[in-house]
Amino acid sequence: MAAERVEDAVSSGMVKLLRFTPSGRKLWIVVGKDSEYWTDPELGFCSCKDFYFNTLSGGDRCYHLKSVARAQEAGGAETFEFSDAEYVQMLQAIASDAELTLLR
Ligand SMILES: [Zn+2]
Repeated sequence: MAAERVEDAVSSGMVKLLRFTPSGRKLWIVVGKDSEYWTDPELGFCSCKDFYFNTLSGGDRCYHLKSVARAQEAGGAETFEFSDAEYVQMLQAIASDAELTLLR
């Protein structure tokens, strides 16, 4: 069941890769039902509630991290290019989104 959900997210293009130039920094975004989540598979981080309450306390990786891992195996995702100047702005937007999600 959970695996099907991951499959769906990848095939329907809900995993997006934001690439920042010239540094080559990457952010992965998984578009969920009512929000977008930022995940960093290298750090094993996700901005969702499930990550916060389950993964961090020793549970399984959340659905978003699995989706990103699957997308990476499949050769990537739809990629959007941004300049490094936009990186901080993007992180701030994501951070305030995540805060709202956690407070809900
Ligand atoms: Zn997540």
